[in-house]
Amino acid sequence: MFWPPDYHMHTPLCRHASGEPTEYAARARAIGLTEIGFTDHSPMRRDDFDNWRMRFDQLAEYVEKVRRAQKEHPALSIKLGLEVDYLPGHEDWIRELASLHPWDYFIGSVHYVSDSWAVDNPEDIAKWKNRDAFEVWSIYFDRLTMAAESGFFEIIGHADLPKKFNIRPQQDCAPLFARFLDVVARKDLAIELNTAGLRKDCKEIYPSRSLLDMAAARKIPITFGSDAHAVAEVGMGFDQALELARAAGYVHSLRFDRRRRSQILL
Ligand SMILES: [Zn+2]
Ligand SMILES: [Zn+2]
Repeated sequence: MFWPPDYHMHTPLCRHASGEPTEYAARARAIGLTEIGFTDHSPMRRDDFDNWRMRFDQLAEYVEKVRRAQKEHPALSIKLGLEVDYLPGHEDWIRELASLHPWDYFIGSVHYVSDSWAVDNPEDIAKWKNRDAFEVWSIYFDRLTMAAESGFFEIIGHADLPKKFNIRPQQDCAPLFARFLDVVARKDLAIELNTAGLRKDCKEIYPSRSLLDMAAARKIPITFGSDAHAVAEVGMGFDQALELARAAGYVHSLRFDRRRRSQILL
C-alpha cells in the first residue's frame, strides 16, 4: 500500500502531545510510511503568549529530538519543519525563526483570530457564543490570506480550521475560500489535507471537499498531514485523505527538502 509523507506531527515540547519523535518514526515505519516530517508548534517571541507550544529556549532541543529520530531510523526519510503561527505583526519573528535552523519546510497556520482567541482551543469555546460565526470565519480567512501572502511558508495548514467544533456560518463561505486560494495559487504554495478533523466534532478532513475542489481548479498542490499529537495518530485517516484527493482530481502530492519541493505520484 502506498502512503504519501505525513508532514504534520508534534512532540511533547508543545505541552499537549505525547510520545517522542523516535517513537512516531517507529510507528510510521510499522504502518508502511517512507517519509514523515515533524512540525511542532513554533515558539513565540514571548514565552508567556500561551501555554500550548515550546519555549524559545527549547527550539534546539526540538531539532535535537528530530535528529535523534533520523539517526535511529535511517530507513525512513524524516524532515525538519515547524508549524508556525501566523499573526499580523509577527513577521519579523517568523523571519528570525526561519534563519535559525536548516528547515525543510514551514507550515503556516492560523489559530488566532485575535491575540487572545485561538479558534481551535477548547478552553476558548465559550467565545463562539457571543460572536457571529461568519464574522469569525471571515477574520480567520483574512488572516489565512495574509499568511499565504507573507511568503514565509511552503504549506498552509488545516485551511478551514474554524469548523473544528462544527460551528458553521449560514452564509456561503465560497468567496472567502476563493480570495484565499487565489493568493495561494499566485504565491505557488501548497495546502495540506489534514486528517485531524476526522477526530474532531466536525468529523471531516481539513479542508472540506468544496474548498479542495476550488483548490484543484486552481492547480494548487497538496501535502498530507495527520497532525499527530500521539504515536497512534501517525498516518491516521490517510486512506480517507487519499480517497478525497483522488476524488478532487489530484494525482500528485509534494515533498520538501531544505525548502525545495518535488512531486510524488499518488
Ligand atoms: Zn497542537
Ligand atoms: Zn494547527
